[in-house]
Amino acid sequence: MQKKQNSTSVIWFRNNLRIQDNTSLFKAIHHHEKTIAVYFFDPKYFEIDTFGFKKTEKFRAKFLIETIADLKRNLANLNITLLTYFKSPEEELPKICEQFTVETIYTQKEWTDEEIKTNSLLKRVLQNVKFVEDFDQFLYHPNSVSKDFSNIPDVFTTFKKGIEKKVTIESEISVSKLAETNLIDTKTAIPTLKDLGFEDFQTNRNSAFPFRGGETEALKRLDYYLFETKKVSVYKNTRNGLVGIDYSTKFSPWLANGSLSAKTIYWKIKQFEKEFGSNESTYWVIFELIWRDYFKFISLKYGYKIFKIEGILDVSYHWNNNSKAVNSWIEGKTKDDFVNANMIELKETGWMSNRGRQNVASYFAKELLLDWRIGAAYFESILLDYDVHSNYGNWMYVSGVGNDPRDRKFNTQFQAQNYDGNYKFRNLWLEKTLF
Ligand code: FAD
Repeated sequence: MQKKQNSTSVIWFRNNLRIQDNTSLFKAIHHHEKTIAVYFFDPKYFEIDTFGFKKTEKFRAKFLIETIADLKRNLANLNITLLTYFKSPEEELPKICEQFTVETIYTQKEWTDEEIKTNSLLKRVLQNVKFVEDFDQFLYHPNSVSKDFSNIPDVFTTFKKGIEKKVTIESEISVSKLAETNLIDTKTAIPTLKDLGFEDFQTNRNSAFPFRGGETEALKRLDYYLFETKKVSVYKNTRNGLVGIDYSTKFSPWLANGSLSAKTIYWKIKQFEKEFGSNESTYWVIFELIWRDYFKFISLKYGYKIFKIEGILDVSYHWNNNSKAVNSWIEGKTKDDFVNANMIELKETGWMSNRGRQNVASYFAKELLLDWRIGAAYFESILLDYDVHSNYGNWMYVSGVGNDPRDRKFNTQFQAQNYDGNYKFRNLWLEKTLF
């Protein structure tokens, strides 16, 4: 590949906060003589949303700061400077482009509403700068899956069978170090939690996710879960657990902000299977990653509909929005102790298991009949691993406006008995008082 002389590129990092398997990084440094990286802590994502929640709460904010600090170190090792701002890209990117005479901006392709708005504002102002956007958050590359996303099947099994049969997963991309002359003198600071409007806090000692943000930690966890402990070999039996760090992979917060690539997980599992053998469990992690892809494809297919109360099914139900009931759910003060324990875990840690999420969401939408978008917005605010497609896709699915062909309601007490028969989980989070 020929580098263009005297040309400067910018990698605008978004939810692709890694150096391993990063298409934008690869293209930027292969096509241009000079490359600068930028990241924006966009104030929009720290504002209050229409339902009254902060769009990003303290757990994800801290995780993000750790992620960016790690990315900055890793990029510096490649001799790339990462500039960071607590400003919107609309405000700062045009200035950067002018200051460094930027020719091309490389970034991850996003398609949800807020991101599209930001992109079009920028493209209007930066008419002389080329934008190169790449899908880089998938296991199966969208270009190999469909030319027309309206053909994506609405039933997961049909989707899964189709792609597993016909589409191959691409190999990972890697890059090598640039010359020191690529570094620039400009210095910027990473905002602190306080700058973003939060008090510092300690991780709850019972947290099932006590990990730090950043690619380095993500790769450590991947190695731990596969090669060090071989937990991946029993994943299918433990994945519905509720207590501790090892019942499931815990990859989701790193996947959500892109500090870990789904392809990296896939190829590591393949390597593991070669060395230690494959079984239902090793496959099941990949199966779950296909669910993750699936919700992204559904969001590509339906666009803004995933945020609408009628969902992608276009069905009108009567939904309540009683704020007292919503608050009882958030505070873990409903009539249901299993729901309460899960909600308290979430409020205290930013984490909840998949089993817990299914139960509390079903209780919210199908027992309390509350507007599912309020529950989804609360999750968006507080989850460490918030991912727009997985969150809204799962909420629609559980609430009966998405693509669950069975439209189930969870019997939360039966689930509690099944998955927490010995009260270990509930005892961990519910206050034990006599009267
Ligand atoms: P594992 O069980 O180890 O699974 C491995 C990976 O597969 C996960 O990291 C995740 O990327 C993917 N995965 C697993 N289950 C699902 C699923 N149901 N849908 C999509 N991907 C899945 N996941 C998010 O990443 N972000 C969200 O905002 C989110 N919101 C949710 C909201 C509701 C109401 C529900 C029911 C589920 C939601 N999930 C979300 C999916 C799932 O609960 C989490 O991905 C999972 O609990 C993360 O834990 P893990 O990494 O240990 O998962």
